[in-house]
Amino acid sequence: MDFNLSKEEQLIQKTAREFAQKVIDPAAAEIDKTNLMPSSIMEGLSELGIFGIPLPEEYGGGGAGYLSYILALEQLSRACSGVGMIISVNVVGLSVINAFGTPEQKEKYLPPGIKGTEILSFAFTEPGTGSDPKQLTTTVRKDGDHFIINGTKRFISNAGYKGPMIIIAREEESGKASAFIIDKFCPGYSLSEPWDKIGAHGGALYDVYLNNVRIPAVNLLGESGHGLWALKIAMVYGKIGLTGLFLGSCLAAWEEALSYARSKTHRGEAIAAKFQHIQTALADIAMKYDAAKWYAYHLGFAADHYKDPMQLVKEAALTKVYVAETAIDIARIAMGVHGSYGVMRDYKIARLWGDVILGPQVEGTAPLLKILAAGIILNH
Ligand SMILES: Cc1cc2nc3c(=O)[nH]c(=O)nc-3n(C[C@H](O)[C@H](O)[C@H](O)COP(=O)(O)OP(=O)(O)OC[C@H]3O[C@@H](n4cnc5c(N)ncnc54)[C@H](O)[C@@H]3O)c2cc1C
Repeated sequence: MDFNLSKEEQLIQKTAREFAQKVIDPAAAEIDKTNLMPSSIMEGLSELGIFGIPLPEEYGGGGAGYLSYILALEQLSRACSGVGMIISVNVVGLSVINAFGTPEQKEKYLPPGIKGTEILSFAFTEPGTGSDPKQLTTTVRKDGDHFIINGTKRFISNAGYKGPMIIIAREEESGKASAFIIDKFCPGYSLSEPWDKIGAHGGALYDVYLNNVRIPAVNLLGESGHGLWALKIAMVYGKIGLTGLFLGSCLAAWEEALSYARSKTHRGEAIAAKFQHIQTALADIAMKYDAAKWYAYHLGFAADHYKDPMQLVKEAALTKVYVAETAIDIARIAMGVHGSYGVMRDYKIARLWGDVILGPQVEGTAPLLKILAAGIILNH
């Protein structure tokens, strides 16, 4: 076993950290307040090639694999979860098109998404369900050499950016779910106001209204009736991204606790040096961060080297659950280190609470992911 990062992985990690420190950190409090992502951050990410780290080089991607992707997301999300959310969902869309797209679809959609001049979305969730594909109500019907899509998609990330959106919809005739690519802001596409979610600000969520959206038949993604395969792949890559994102929250909470404990004094002495329970809190955080980090990095390695796809599905589900729940644990301990300052929104640790608390709900709730993993453990 080799736990060392390669030179390339170290460089990606360092580049992401430096960008986060220089460009994202100074803007993070404002992003949290306004829920808006400055275009300078999007442009900077594009220049660094962050949007396409794991995607193939032939389409302009970094070809650097999913471990590098997690390393970068950790550092960027340490500064701002919203940045991690935008990148993660974009990579979901790119990875699904890369897995199922025709050569023409890849040629058309991958290069701009990898460059970040277009930002992809993936739309499964609806007002009725975010967990059960059988309850999908968005419909699609054939109309000559076109499809017509109608329905409402809920909580959709990146829906306000131009670019492609992958829609999972039910075929009216067969009742089967299929995947389609639409261009956001096409005729029939409209958005709600952004949801007022409690964390991951800057990564706005919208409801998407699809009213007789007409797309050419060539925009079917993968085979007709195979929409749930697209969903499965999306969920795996989504969990890899969210693992990197919430590992970044673990790191942020760890750094906040350490720096606060070193700088806050009690009768002239730093609380880190003076109080043993502060020291055990820091040790607890260090232990939890290390466990989450190695679990997360292993998922990146597994995604780059997997042989059995079902094992990757299981590992992605459990790692995401573990890292997201650990982020809550670490943030809670770190808030305790801050005392009452920990619940003041002027302090980063308080803002982080809003980020971490949503972790177990996104991309499949934690209980459902455990049920999914248990099914694979018992049946494979
Ligand atoms: C920040 C953020 C970003 C998101 N981005 C996107 C996006 O880009 N695209 C997208 O499609 N969605 C997105 N979502 C939606 C998200 O993925 C879903 O909300 C999530 O999967 C849970 O679905 P739900 O809220 O409808 O819960 P439900 O499915 O309604 O579940 C409600 C409760 O019932 C439980 N439950 C449901 N079914 C079962 C079952 N069969 N057995 C046992 N328990 C069950 C769940 O565990 C949960 O506790 C996003 C959500 C957030 C918060």
